[in-house]
Amino acid sequence: MIDTYSMNRQELETLLASWGQPKFRAAQVYAWQKEGTPVSEMSNLPKALREKLQTEVTDTLPKVEEKYVSAIDGTVKYLFRLYDGECVESVLMKYKHGNTLCISSEVGCPMGCRFCASTLGGKIRNLLPSELLGQIIAANRDSGERVSNIVMMGIGEPLDNYDNVIRFLKLVNDEEGLNIGYRHISLSTCGIVPRILELAKEEFPITLSISLHASNDEKRSAVMPVNNKWNIDALLSACVTYYKTTGRRISFEYTLISGKNDSEADAKELGTLLKNAFRGTGAPIHVNLIRVNEVKETGMKQGTAEEANRFAETLGRYGIVATVRRRLGSDVNAACGQLRRQHRQQENEGEKD
Ligand code: SAH
Repeated sequence: MIDTYSMNRQELETLLASWGQPKFRAAQVYAWQKEGTPVSEMSNLPKALREKLQTEVTDTLPKVEEKYVSAIDGTVKYLFRLYDGECVESVLMKYKHGNTLCISSEVGCPMGCRFCASTLGGKIRNLLPSELLGQIIAANRDSGERVSNIVMMGIGEPLDNYDNVIRFLKLVNDEEGLNIGYRHISLSTCGIVPRILELAKEEFPITLSISLHASNDEKRSAVMPVNNKWNIDALLSACVTYYKTTGRRISFEYTLISGKNDSEADAKELGTLLKNAFRGTGAPIHVNLIRVNEVKETGMKQGTAEEANRFAETLGRYGIVATVRRRLGSDVNAACGQLRRQHRQQENEGEKD
């Protein structure tokens, strides 16, 4: 399949040159694509070239299938339909400092975290570079505004789709493309250690987020199967290497699950763990606390805001900056994976009828 949105400028030039087109045509197509313009509307291209693009190229730009706007805070939840009929979610959050888009990295997820809706049906496939980029282009086009920050915290594990994610990062950063600075991009991982080390070598100044969720191996393995392969020690030492190589601070995600990992003792153990791991590195440590979103199938319960605040205060005593995540879009099911899941269930029920 020919997928021009996954190509960099050089590759697009090579493709169009093979069709006998001059170099400047590639620049024209590239400029249209970053706006998500349909080929039929690429008005400065000759008709024959538009026809060739329409017949030869697969249209991999995600299409808005469903869209929900939060009445509370304006957060927009998109369900995007992909070229092969699969769906993924993105969430557009509006802050004073700009628009942030939370994008998906895979259709489904293979990692099996027990609290997470995205992994319930396993992984279907990787998202293409074009589909990673296309979520941003489609959100820009639909909202009429510009996404300025990206978080890779949607459906899927970005480091399980490593090559496509790396290509995407280069594409989205291209100054002739969307030109979003690496410092405006966060990538969240459940902890695929060899890939964290590989990513460190790329030296992109992106922010790495680690989904930690527990303060010892026993508890972490109980909710995150990935911990059986790379335990907390291995993970934190990869984080230290990442920090030393890139100079970029790492933030930790910690989902508070009532009665499982949210006690005072858990907070103290977490404080000690992180403080010891980064001792002597000078790295600032930041923990984002998220009260678990209750997903019916997982049976995990949410604690109170007061409990979360107390947990943050305890971490503070270890010199750790901890913030309790504000919940945006709570009325639009903005927690990832739930919308795609609902949609699939409805489709399946429809098929049975
Ligand atoms: N696979 C990546 C990114 C996707 S998940 C990762 O694991 O980091 C984005 C974040 O949401 C992760 O920290 C994940 O653990 C968390 N998360 C998943 N399900 C959740 C739920 N039900 N409630 C709260 N946070 C959840």
